[in-house]
Amino acid sequence: MMFPEAKILDVDLTNQKISVRSLPGEIYRLYPGGSSLGLYLILQEMQAGIEPFSPDNMLVFTVSPFTGLPVAGLSRVVVTTKSPLTGTIGDSQAGGFFPAYLKANGYDAVVFKGRAANPVYLFVNGDKVELRPADHLWGKVTGDAERLIKEELGDEGLEIAQIGPGGENLVRYAAIMNMCNRANGRNGTGAVMGSKNLKALVVKKNKIAVKAFDKEGLTTLTKNVKERIRNNESIDGLGEFGTDGDLDGFNELGFLPTNNWQTGWFPEGAESICGTTMAETILVKRDTCYTCPVRCKRVVEVPGKVDPFYGGPEYETCAAFGSYCGITDLETVALANQLCNMYGIDTISCGGTIAFAMECFEKGLFNTDDTGGMELKFGKGDNLAILIEMIAKRQGIGDLLAEGSYRAAQKVGGEALKLSISVKGQELPAHMPQFKPAVGLIYAVNPFGADHQSSEHDTFLVADPDSQERRWLGQLGVYKQYQDTFDLDDDKVRFAFDTQCFFSILDTLCLCQFVWGPAWELYGPDDIIQLCKYGIGWETSLFELMRVGERRINMMRYFNAREGFTRSDDALPERLFDPMPDGPSKGITLDKEEFEQALNTYYQFAGWDVKTGNPTETNLRKLSLDWVVKR
Ligand code: SF4
Repeated sequence: MMFPEAKILDVDLTNQKISVRSLPGEIYRLYPGGSSLGLYLILQEMQAGIEPFSPDNMLVFTVSPFTGLPVAGLSRVVVTTKSPLTGTIGDSQAGGFFPAYLKANGYDAVVFKGRAANPVYLFVNGDKVELRPADHLWGKVTGDAERLIKEELGDEGLEIAQIGPGGENLVRYAAIMNMCNRANGRNGTGAVMGSKNLKALVVKKNKIAVKAFDKEGLTTLTKNVKERIRNNESIDGLGEFGTDGDLDGFNELGFLPTNNWQTGWFPEGAESICGTTMAETILVKRDTCYTCPVRCKRVVEVPGKVDPFYGGPEYETCAAFGSYCGITDLETVALANQLCNMYGIDTISCGGTIAFAMECFEKGLFNTDDTGGMELKFGKGDNLAILIEMIAKRQGIGDLLAEGSYRAAQKVGGEALKLSISVKGQELPAHMPQFKPAVGLIYAVNPFGADHQSSEHDTFLVADPDSQERRWLGQLGVYKQYQDTFDLDDDKVRFAFDTQCFFSILDTLCLCQFVWGPAWELYGPDDIIQLCKYGIGWETSLFELMRVGERRINMMRYFNAREGFTRSDDALPERLFDPMPDGPSKGITLDKEEFEQALNTYYQFAGWDVKTGNPTETNLRKLSLDWVVKR
């Protein structure tokens, strides 16, 4: 079988030059999409030490050989660049319809280099690709820019990935939005796009021409998907209540990050911001991604306040603007979500940074002179909308907060340094390492900062041994049954590392984790192997795929090592090692010594140097990355 070639669209913004090249199938097979392909190009073509906002930073959009096939969870786009938030490699993923239609135009990757002299957007219509002026779009929120672009090109059916004012103003956690409600949210990729004077990547909805290698086989694999969903309580619940369906459950256990992670207990607000309440009150529709029947995306409306055009909040957003900030009002949270989508800002980092500012204010590190008269107190939601706008426009204290909590803490100094709940400068997602230490370990070692979707969560190791999740883990050789989630022994570390490699497969092949991951398991590892066979004729195995996943992680860590990152950057915020202060989790803590030992074990399992945390030459060679070593 010939592995398909990757078709790459190169855009030199400085010289306004556009060209196309192919990557041979034997190389694409090693880096088959997502940030794996992005990293391959970046490590080949970008020097170390480039500043994130330099024209020399590369910004790479990638899909995979599977994108656009008529199967659930196969429309994801990854953006890879050097992150202005973390200084590490940046990796950010989004769903929607944009990815399928980027591929429909024939491209596996779009590589932006340089900086345009004036704002531009790229319009892709098959082989016809042009840079167009975007001065008239600069400063516009995403909804307005999308409308203007569609009017200008006379086509309502365009898919648009764009930045808002957040990216234009180099907010370090600016997002790239498609459909105005799907975000490549993390790592500040939108700010890099802004630094290049690139407003949008617009693709025409050309007929999806992605053909399955074996159409009949693929149909057999995916038939009865609706029945599968009906018979799968977890994925059915995901569709009904969205990712926010678990929020009140986390609170009942005492592990819902609250008031800037000072506690995990939010009894006064958890119920009012959870997915069930959303479904019963402001939810007006469920939305979806290309050919996905799960329909997990939220669409909410509050007449006169929240516009359904901008979608609705996920669990992470409800936690970041809700419990992190002590805010109990779902409409306020939904408005914050809308504003982030309009301005193009990551909701997790934005909520985390505002929670940090609230604690600084309450501890007297900021006062009303600093905040323009605003009282930044936990639970006060009336300032939230104003603050988000100030951040997007870098006005007043918004200029400081646009830097993210880590850099803001460096500037404020003193006690503020302990109040940034971040890893490598990226604010933590809402899964508490005190409850899920394996997730905490991955927060620490993940190459692009704290991320909750880079490995499986500890909770699956306490699931019923006969459950489908456990059967799935069994295919990775994970059998140990735990009584509770709190251990961090060697088996748990191996679970963390092995599932990180598996999730890295999903991220490389651009498969939605809700559909192809274990948590909801509409499809499992065996199905991925079938997908490879029927989708593109790739006869592969879990062994080869795990190598693919591990290779991506090693390339990322190698990129970071070039930038001077070491083991000392793999550190969790000190607050996480304090005993939980109240609620059902009172007294539970993450043990520092055990955590450091787990880090040692993790590096050994990964084949990295225990002192530096960096990949060894031997390991890179094992993963066919000898070309990296030789450079
Ligand atoms: S499960 Fe949800 S996020 Fe994933 S592809 Fe389907 S609709 Fe999109």
